[in-house]
Amino acid sequence: MAQSQRIKQLPRQVYDLIAAGEVVTSPLSAAKELVENAVDAGASRIWAEIEEGGIALIRVSDDGTGIEPKDLPLAFAPHATSKINDADDLGRIATLGFRGEALASIAAVAEVEMVTKTAGSESAAGSRIQIRGGEALKIEKIGADMGTTVTVSDLFFNIPARLKHLNAPRSEGAKIVDYLSRMAISYPNIAFRLISNGTVLFATRGAGDRLAAITTVYGTGVAAFLIGVTGVDSDLGMSLEGYIAGPNGLRKSRKGQVLFVNGRSVKNPAIDAAIDRAYKEFAEPGRFPFTFLFLKVNPADVDVNVHPAKNEIAFADAAMAGEFVEKTIRAALVSERSVPTLSLRGRGRRRAGADDTFRLQPDANPQTAPSAV
Ligand code: ADP
Ligand code: MG
Repeated sequence: MAQSQRIKQLPRQVYDLIAAGEVVTSPLSAAKELVENAVDAGASRIWAEIEEGGIALIRVSDDGTGIEPKDLPLAFAPHATSKINDADDLGRIATLGFRGEALASIAAVAEVEMVTKTAGSESAAGSRIQIRGGEALKIEKIGADMGTTVTVSDLFFNIPARLKHLNAPRSEGAKIVDYLSRMAISYPNIAFRLISNGTVLFATRGAGDRLAAITTVYGTGVAAFLIGVTGVDSDLGMSLEGYIAGPNGLRKSRKGQVLFVNGRSVKNPAIDAAIDRAYKEFAEPGRFPFTFLFLKVNPADVDVNVHPAKNEIAFADAAMAGEFVEKTIRAALVSERSVPTLSLRGRGRRRAGADDTFRLQPDANPQTAPSAV
């Protein structure tokens, strides 16, 4: 039998590394946290740049509130947040972040530089902090534009096992592209730009037109199949809006299904099942529609604190949310069917069918959104 070992509390660097492993599992999770922070900072533009699928570099720049110089080191401390104050606040989270762990976690497993300036500060007084593996290397005053730019490099330099198990840059990068695409259409008021290895993949205008954002990001081939959905149930405190594919825009996987609940990109089996039920009479088995759904529920009716990377939520009543979504989608499909001549379906349809239209078009799209490039 093994001998009993004394129990000791781990040094902070070790427990930070352990905790960070749950929050930052991939280049995607680092990028996601940075983009969420930019949204929470009230940015009207968010520019993201990656190199080698984010493994070599992730840079996210925003024009949001910025951070006061005296708060800057605190932003990187574990469990430090400006977004909630007490346990009660967990029941009414209105921001994407709330755990106060992201920056600390990313800085624990990478080299991070943040340059930030608040609106109130005098003209040249931005600040810059550089942290590597949880250790602050430098804090200095620096001239900067209002907002925040975070650059993450050397990701997982101190967790070789994780570094080794990352996928190829192309597939790690594809996950970030997919996430940024979803964010760009969820927040049409924010101008998103994504650059990968020096190439602009897309740039949205941020003028508030969701269908225009979908067209820019996913291409006219996808947009041509879409039908608008909208529904409100004030008794349930739920509303749904978005776009779904008509019966001609189906494909063989669920990959084209985007769900946001209260502004948060999530996966939810109850909603997946609701979509399937709604399409039952409109789609052959094994065929899935594109769905871009933006569901709003009362914050008290959803638990967002069920996943360290915040990729899941738990509805207080999942069956009820599912029924609402199913009913709203079915109503849109039925009314679309009853006015075939007004259909968008025919426009821009590709002969090869919907399956090969789901493609990001790195070369074509920047021209359709020149203002932000
Ligand atoms: P959380 O987002 O859960 O609060 P983070 O570790 O992601 O935790 O960020 C810590 C804090 O740093 C935030 O609460 C916020 O006050 C500040 N912060 C982080 N990123 C930005 C940004 N891009 N602009 C302004 N403030 C930021
Ligand atoms: Mg955050």
